Amino acid sequence: MSTATLSSPPKVKIGPTKLLINGEWQAAASGKTFPTINPATEEVIAQVAEGDAADVESAVKAARRAFDEGPWSKMSATERGKLLLKLADLIEANRKELAELETLDNGKPLGESIKADLPLTIMCYRYFAGWADKIHGKTIPINGPYFCYTRHEPVGVAGQIIPWNFPMLMQAWKLGPALAAGCTVVLKPAEQTPLSALRIGELIMEAGFPPGVVNIVPGYGPTAGAAIARHMDVDKVAFTGSTEVGHIIMKHAAETNLKRVTLELGGKSPNVVFADTDLDAAVEGAYFGLFFNQGQCCVAGSRLFVEEKIHDQFVEKMVAKAKARKVGDPFARETMQGPQVDRDQFEKVMGYIDSGKKEGAKLLAGGGRVGQKGFFVEPTVFGDVKDDMKIAREEIFGPVMSIIRFKDLDEVVQRANRTMYGLAAAVWTKDITKAHAIANRVRAGTVWVNCYDVFDAAAPFGGFKQSGVGRELGEYGLQAYTEVKTVVVKL
Ligand code: ADP
Repeated sequence: MSTATLSSPPKVKIGPTKLLINGEWQAAASGKTFPTINPATEEVIAQVAEGDAADVESAVKAARRAFDEGPWSKMSATERGKLLLKLADLIEANRKELAELETLDNGKPLGESIKADLPLTIMCYRYFAGWADKIHGKTIPINGPYFCYTRHEPVGVAGQIIPWNFPMLMQAWKLGPALAAGCTVVLKPAEQTPLSALRIGELIMEAGFPPGVVNIVPGYGPTAGAAIARHMDVDKVAFTGSTEVGHIIMKHAAETNLKRVTLELGGKSPNVVFADTDLDAAVEGAYFGLFFNQGQCCVAGSRLFVEEKIHDQFVEKMVAKAKARKVGDPFARETMQGPQVDRDQFEKVMGYIDSGKKEGAKLLAGGGRVGQKGFFVEPTVFGDVKDDMKIAREEIFGPVMSIIRFKDLDEVVQRANRTMYGLAAAVWTKDITKAHAIANRVRAGTVWVNCYDVFDAAAPFGGFKQSGVGRELGEYGLQAYTEVKTVVVKL
């Protein structure tokens, strides 16, 4: 590991810092604000209006009105699609500024904001724009003199609560299908990273979305977030974040109006490397699958099962790569890894590293902090990790890799499935039988074969078990924003 020196960030344009309610930028009803911090320098970037229950109330009223009375519900599907396309164009036109803002607020390397977050965000809005006028019901041949058909209607007001690891992209995953389906929205960005969501709010208004269709209320989870999840006039809540908070969201929905709930939660994804694989490709894929985005990915391949026969060779190559990973200023061209998003996450990750050492895992690379300022963690590799160690069971959400040995297929399938999570898995092999055995037998929402972290707006994504409820993206993701209505007409 080596470090890139911290230069002062370029003059990044900071967009709006207020709440977007009914098409207007407003201070919080309480007048309160909260600071958003640059995780590379620990300095305050801006004070942002701190929404809570009172603001959620106004936002839901605006969303309700735009949905119940129009104009949104009266607008044609083609028009909705056009507005989404316009938004995608505006994001594209402002991509440099948005990438810088994302890097400033989140800490991810600028090159990754430019090459991953922005194109995926734009693709997501374009993909769902295409769906807007293709949401069809069916005609159904029921018994008797009746004509029966279904309508796929928008579910109504959608409350959306998003995390900080891919702020702009998670906003697109939520807004894209909701708006294509004809819902109106109250969205709460994560308190760590509100800035890009608000700037996109400005672009949403510029694109011409009517007031009240998209309302953005930054604030904290237990106040603003919980107010969304508990609100009687919110018809559906979509949440991405920790499994712990996923339980709370579902409880709020159960205790209030049984709003529809989709959850995209944590993971502890097994990445299985067989001895017959292309070793270099597997090392590269497993390295990317764990360290990408500072390890802050719900799908991170954090249980890396390596077949005994190639174990030592694999470890040697991986350790060399981890040690060569450049950590530092996210705006510097050579940087591969920026800081963790905030002090809480930094401390949590350091705590897991500590527990790995205490439980007897072998520290092969990293293990410490980088520098004295900013939340930088060394790319860390543990070997000889056992299934029951904390680092092999719990989601770390940081640049900490656990390498675990295995002997054969049946054994690794069983061990891969011994977890409460089921978000993703991957397998590296040249043997098609082994590849499909993992694809079929590992209980996870996505399985990658000889690749990792391949995402597309058209491919559904979500979790088995406690990794979530429902799917996002693709046609399945769209369905999560519609209600099916059956109409029966006597002939
Ligand atoms: P993390 O631990 O990675 O920060 P969280 O699940 O705590 O993930 O946060 C994800 C999102 O959920 C954020 O927008 C956060 O504000 C929100 N959130 C946290 N706690 C609650 C809660 N009790 N009710 C609703 N939303 C919450």
